[in-house]
Order: sequence, then structure tokens, then C-alpha cells
Amino acid sequence: MKRGKVIVISGPSGVGKGTVCRELMSKYPDLAATTVSVTTRAPRPGEIEGVHYYYRTNEEFDSLLAEGKFLETVDKFTHRYGTLFSEVERVLQMGKNVILEIEMIGGANVKKRIPDAVLIYLLPPSLKVLTDRLVSRGSETEEQIRVRQSQVEKEFDQAEPYEYFVVNDDLSVAVENVKTIIDAEGLKDDFRNVKKIYFGRD
Ligand code: ADP
Ligand code: 5GP
Repeated sequence: MKRGKVIVISGPSGVGKGTVCRELMSKYPDLAATTVSVTTRAPRPGEIEGVHYYYRTNEEFDSLLAEGKFLETVDKFTHRYGTLFSEVERVLQMGKNVILEIEMIGGANVKKRIPDAVLIYLLPPSLKVLTDRLVSRGSETEEQIRVRQSQVEKEFDQAEPYEYFVVNDDLSVAVENVKTIIDAEGLKDDFRNVKKIYFGRD
């Protein structure tokens, strides 16, 4: 069986990454699953250990780093985040594609280590809509929203390695577009690989 691919989904805070991924997995449960990252930030109300993140102290994060457990890590908003190799493997073992809902520095680092990883950047229909979504989610203070907003344009300059840009206006359209990308990427193959399978030679 062909192994699943690593699909990175990035985009500004509040664009709908979580919503799109949840909807995609609920509609197509066999297609893909997300990993659970490690973070040093505190859980937000309603967030659950092992479901939304593994919440760890700085010291615990350092130990995981020293043990080589991370595919990638990043420092952001004074907190640290990291994707564990074990999480990626857990999803691949289920025969599914792996969705990493991570920011762009992490995405670029994943692409360096896993060249056939697929980088998707989710865009809001407009910056105004983005602010409205953050406010309506109600999980950040006004100050946090202001900080995150001021970073949007600057952050976009880091999106150069991204290959797909999907606008999350109508949720179901965005979900179908991500599904199409994953399906098409799954059909890609390598010339040498195919030659070996069909003709038994390199
Ligand atoms: P992110 O994970 O990118 O930070 P969320 O998935 O938490 O963003 O979405 C932020 C807010 O925007 C949530 O309140 C969510 O319900 C809303 N939202 C997400 N996608 C859409 C959409 N296509 N149309 C309208 N609202 C949306
Ligand atoms: P939040 O604190 O809102 O959950 O996440 C803040 C940012 O960190 C988001 O852009 C999110 O995608 C990103 N993020 C979450 N986990 C990881 C991770 O393991 N690695 C990287 N590089 N970014 C992450």
C-alpha cells in the first residue's frame, strides 16, 4: 500500500485552518488525520491535553528536542511549538495522509526534510473578514488580536515555498479544494518507482 503524504496547512490565525481540517476529516474520515503538537503555551478554555496539544513545560520541551523527537519546532508569540515524529508515524500507520496544521517556518522546515510534503496556504476572503473571525472566536484578547493582525502581511512573505493557495470563503468549497489537492498529490508517482514495479529494474 502506498504511504500517505504529509500535508501542511498554514495560514493566518483565525482564517479557519482548524475548521477546514475538522470538516475535511469528518466528511472524509479515511483520507487524512491531524497530528497533535507539543506546545509550551497554556491550554485555552475547553482545550484538552492530548487532543488539542500536548502541553509541556519549557524544560520538558528542551528534553524532547535533545532526544531528537521533533520533525520541526518553532518559537512563536513567546511560546514554543513542535511536531513529533511519533505523531506523523502514528497517522501514516493508519494508512492516512498526515495533516500538519502548523505555521510557515515549520512548513518550510518540513518541506526541507520531507521534499514530497505538500504545502497549502489558507487565505481569508479579505483581511476584514479575518479580523471578524478572530473576534467571533473570542479566544484572544483585543491586544492579542492586534498583535496577530499586524503580523499577517509580514508573515505572508514567508509563504514562498507554499504551492497551493486556497481561499476559505465558503467552507464547503475550501474543504473540497483541499480534498482535490490531496487526491491529486496521491496520484503523483516517481518514474524510477514505476519502472521498478512494472519492469523490475532500476
Ligand atoms: P484557525 O484555526 O485558522 O485559527 P478557526 O478554525 O479557529 O481558525 O476559525 C476561526 C473562526 O472563523 C471560527 O469562529 C470559525 O467558526 C470561523 N470560520 C472558519 N471558517 C469559516 C468560513 N469558511 N466561513 C465563516 N466562518 C468561518
Ligand atoms: P495556537 O496557539 O493559536 O494554537 O497556534 C499558534 C500558531 O502555531 C498557529 O499558526 C499554529 O498553526 C501553529 N502551530 C501549532 N502547532 C505547531 C507545530 O507543531 N509546529 C509549528 N511550526 N507551528 C505550530
